[in-house]
Amino acid sequence: MAEEIEKELSHLKELLVYRDGNVKLRVMLGNMIGARKEGGKWVFLKRYSICKNRHMILLKKDQKRDKCPLCGGPVQIIEETPSEDVKQQFFKLLDEQEIIEKLLAGSVTNFVEFQKFLVFVKGVGVVNSAKLLAYLFPPKFGYSVNKARKYSGLAVMFVCPKCGYYYYGGESSDGKPAVPSEEGWKCPNDGTKLVGKAARGVRYNREVKAFLLGVLAKNLKMAGGVYSGIIKSFREEVGAKHPDWPKRKAEMTAERKAVSLFLSQYFAVSLHYREGVPLSEAYKVVLGKQYDVLKNHEDFIEAPITDYYTDVKSDKYKAVFEKTIEELGINREEVITWLKRKKIIQ
Ligand SMILES: [Zn+2]
Ligand SMILES: [Zn+2]
Repeated sequence: MAEEIEKELSHLKELLVYRDGNVKLRVMLGNMIGARKEGGKWVFLKRYSICKNRHMILLKKDQKRDKCPLCGGPVQIIEETPSEDVKQQFFKLLDEQEIIEKLLAGSVTNFVEFQKFLVFVKGVGVVNSAKLLAYLFPPKFGYSVNKARKYSGLAVMFVCPKCGYYYYGGESSDGKPAVPSEEGWKCPNDGTKLVGKAARGVRYNREVKAFLLGVLAKNLKMAGGVYSGIIKSFREEVGAKHPDWPKRKAEMTAERKAVSLFLSQYFAVSLHYREGVPLSEAYKVVLGKQYDVLKNHEDFIEAPITDYYTDVKSDKYKAVFEKTIEELGINREEVITWLKRKKIIQ
């Protein structure tokens, strides 16, 4: 990897550590002085109950209490507001966060993955892009999304119900690879169809998993863009396929599938621009052995999905986007047809 980008990556990681530390401190201090945002403005009011045993217990906004939750005794409600000095220090931390995030915004634009893909996806933004680059920089994984999913604990573990063989992110219990087929993976020992399970007894990075499924997936959903549509569409499919599954399980499976799709596009765009590989060839590298199975699936699409096919933020970015799909050789109609089939657009 070029020295320059290696340098930029460590700069980005440094800024992220500083930014997260700043937010953590501000949230902690904010809790101590009852800071919360109301209609876009910060208000400071700390309320708690106190009983004759001096149990002090915080109250949420508008929460009422007449008995102590610890000893059941009668309580008095105390309200406190912080001094101006302390409030000023709180606002200083917020200003600092803004400054660091501007620096981060400057740093992510040095990455082609941001310029050509992430910037066009609603719900990603500067901080999530920076984290994605810091945690899962495609060249560090040899552009293999399977390696990245394995590292992040996102891969599904495929287990043979007959002999106990398992296959996880390209590794297996006995060194033999699982056999791809139309119906899914099969056991190399007895040909039984493997059953997908959550990864157990294998190592992965918990911090990255928490970011991908706890933060990124939620942000994609909240933003209401194409990826929130994709999650919804996947959830309906999963629900139809497994009517016995609890709602939460179907939702989580849909989120994991959508994040995996998003990652494979991020990796393919990265490989195309960094190594000059045509996009269709890039997907073969990114998906590895699974490519031959996935390409026959009706869901399969060899084009990065972004919000810009349906909704445009500004004319400036519209022009950048048009140039990007030309560079990538994407057939716009194919993407639109896919989005319609998935009922993401009308
Ligand atoms: Zn008490
Ligand atoms: Zn088996």
